[in-house]
Amino acid sequence: MTVTIGCGRSLNETTMKEKVELRPAYVWDCPDCGREIFHRGLVPEMTPEKEEELRDDFGVQPYEEGNFIMMPTRVKCPHCNESFPTLHFGDEDV
Ligand SMILES: [Zn+2]
Repeated sequence: MTVTIGCGRSLNETTMKEKVELRPAYVWDCPDCGREIFHRGLVPEMTPEKEEELRDDFGVQPYEEGNFIMMPTRVKCPHCNESFPTLHFGDEDV
């Protein structure tokens, strides 16, 4: 159960700890330094009609839930400062 407090924040009723909002993210391994890097995915705002259109375009089934997220076309490693173009998971480099 959740207890809502000021500013829309909420606490778990049992632990009284503040809940954190999980956001979709991409993860990649830097080819230069080998570190695992997390990158926020952008969740675009859209009308229900546009979302339905995208669900049709991508063949999303009615029982499937979730958000459409936009992947970055380039990412930059915060450790070695190198940037790289991106490739979607499962796609082949052409
Ligand atoms: Zn790196």
